[in-house]
Amino acid sequence: MQSAVSVLGIPIAPLTMEESVSVIDGLIKNKKPSLIATANAEMVMMAQQDNVLADILRSAALVVPDGAGVVWAARQLGRPVPQRVAGYDLVQKLLSVSGHKGYRLYFLGAAPGIAAKAKLYAEQKHPGVAIVGVRDGYFQPADEDAVIAEITECRPDILLVALGVPRQEKWLANNLGRLRVPVVMGVGGTFDVMAGVVTRAPAWMQQSGLEWLYRLLKQPHRALRMLALPRFVMKVLLAKK
Ligand code: UDP
Repeated sequence: MQSAVSVLGIPIAPLTMEESVSVIDGLIKNKKPSLIATANAEMVMMAQQDNVLADILRSAALVVPDGAGVVWAARQLGRPVPQRVAGYDLVQKLLSVSGHKGYRLYFLGAAPGIAAKAKLYAEQKHPGVAIVGVRDGYFQPADEDAVIAEITECRPDILLVALGVPRQEKWLANNLGRLRVPVVMGVGGTFDVMAGVVTRAPAWMQQSGLEWLYRLLKQPHRALRMLALPRFVMKVLLAKK
């Protein structure tokens, strides 16, 4: 594989969607627990302040360019990546591959009832896919051992976790050894979209790099977090040689 592209110190894989899926397929076959992350500008900016998150991303098996901002930054820094690999789309591809190859998935996270609805959606879209367990993301620290025991008993090949950034990445990194799942991945709002409680931006907005604007308009509580975006742009422009 080509070496990763460093965007403000975070290694981004210069892979297409298809190549990313094929790398993940290899990781599943390999069976060594591997963490996948989907980086957008907000996550990269968070990692500038949060060393734990930065270390997790630096030692992840794969970090894909989830957001248009990261794709733009790689181009600005002289190491373009072939395309955006949005976490939501990557999950849909993995569900399709899993349906064909018999991989087992576990969905952990989001509000009560959402992961179960996301499971129904996945089963309708990808007949034959094995979602072997679901659990919401509002468990207490005291329940953590039980949550992990439940996941390991289901023996998934892929564990998708929606607890929000950076909690999901930290939870997965802390528990990677105990979970014994070949591929684990933080998926943010993916289950909410699959369950139909949050809508994704229309295709034209996604293609013109405006998905962040749609999210801001639909979920105005994100405004404060999104102040990271102009700071990201400034930092990338300053880092340009
Ligand atoms: N969430 C959760 N437990 C928590 C906090 C959040 O399961 O304690 C879920 C939340 O319901 C949502 C997801 O984590 O489904 C985070 O989605 P968001 O779109 O905010 O993702 P981010 O932008 O943080 O990747």
